[in-house]
Amino acid sequence: MVEKQEKNIVDKVILVTGGSRGIGAEIVQFLSKLNYRVVLNYNKSEVCAKNVENNLKKIGYTVDIFKADVSKKEEAVNLIQYVIKKYGKIDVLINNAGISQTKLFTEITDEDWQKMMDNNLNSTFYCTREAAKNMIHNKQGLIINMSSIWGITGGSLEVHYSTAKAGLIGFTKALAKELGPSNIRVNAIAPGIINTDMNKELSDIDLENIKREIPLEKIGNSENIAKCVKWLIEDDYVTGEVISINGGWYM
Ligand code: NAP
Repeated sequence: MVEKQEKNIVDKVILVTGGSRGIGAEIVQFLSKLNYRVVLNYNKSEVCAKNVENNLKKIGYTVDIFKADVSKKEEAVNLIQYVIKKYGKIDVLINNAGISQTKLFTEITDEDWQKMMDNNLNSTFYCTREAAKNMIHNKQGLIINMSSIWGITGGSLEVHYSTAKAGLIGFTKALAKELGPSNIRVNAIAPGIINTDMNKELSDIDLENIKREIPLEKIGNSENIAKCVKWLIEDDYVTGEVISINGGWYM
């Protein structure tokens, strides 16, 4: 089975940060099943990362897993260098790793603020700067940054999260302009509410209330995001965009 995958493998090397759980894990599985060469990065959830690997193995696909805390510059750089050393290039970087926190603005500590920026925004800067050197050299590449609806509209009780996710939108647009001439596309995805651990603290009543605000009257799933990633990989003319996947919650 694995041999079969090797024969059909698509010569595109894709790195997904935060691929152990939720949206990232779905993107990893979705793209692996399309025969792309996928590297799954995880930080804390080794068991989940191994589960993703085993699930793929059972149906004849392989995935490469690498532990790195991408909020730390040295580890982020190591991760990118690992991919480039092993495969000779990086074609697609999906900056998906992220954390969230709900807190009154006046109770956000300096540490909370720094942690939010390090995990959601600085991690993307570290990984992208390192990967971009290889992409510029190869005159091709795609970078996808996982923003959020709150990065566009602002989310009450999530000022630090909203700030980091809004930062990713500025980052995406500026970098798309700078790297376009090198044939590198840079886009962001801004999910609304997606059914993952990130929202596990929401009660059934909270979820029902949110659904009432969404024109499509449902919570999104990780596959909605993975399908968009697939489309961005196949495309060659979309750059600098922020693609909202939110059931019409914000339009
Ligand atoms: P999740 O279920 O909580 O998973 C988060 C993932 O990020 C995990 O795989 C985690 O890995 C990884 N991660 C966090 N910090 C990391 C670090 N420093 N280094 C490496 N990996 C790290 O969240 P999710 O819902 O899938 O969210 C994925 C992305 O979508 C995030 O950027 C999030 O902000 C964004 N988003 C989510 C929603 C939503 O409703 N779910 C909406 C808008 C945007 P480990 O567990 O291995 O540490």
